[in-house]
Parts: sequence; C-alpha cells; structure tokens
Amino acid sequence: MFKCKKCNSKDKFELMFNPDYLGPKNFETSYNENGDIVISVDGYTFVPDLNFMNTHAVCRYCGNIYCWDYE
Ligand SMILES: [Zn+2]
Repeated sequence: MFKCKKCNSKDKFELMFNPDYLGPKNFETSYNENGDIVISVDGYTFVPDLNFMNTHAVCRYCGNIYCWDYE
C-alpha cells in the first residue's frame, strides 16, 4: 500500500496522464495475492513502485503530489 505523507490516506489517488497520451485513460486499482496494489490503465496492468507513484499519482483527498511513501 501507499500512504500519502500529507494526509495519511492510503491508496487513494488519481493518475496524472501525460497530455500527449491519447488513450481513454480508464484506470482501475486492485490488489494481488501479495497485497500489492495493482493498477490497470486501458488494459495494461502493472504493480506501481514508489517512483511511479511520486511521478504520476495525485492524492485524491488532499491533492498533493510527490507525497507517497510505502505503508
Ligand atoms: Zn493526501
């Protein structure tokens, strides 16, 4: 899980897409058998690392970016 260092909410985020990205920008999150969060974007599924989160994820509650840490 990822925790927002500003408001302590966990795994509550929106993805920031590159303005040049032309896909439908549908994303979903789930958890795998190890308890890791899994992101699916337009059919592409991956386990995000902390670097990804701090580059692409904005906290849904407090709006901060670059604010994630492992929980
Ligand atoms: Zn937050």
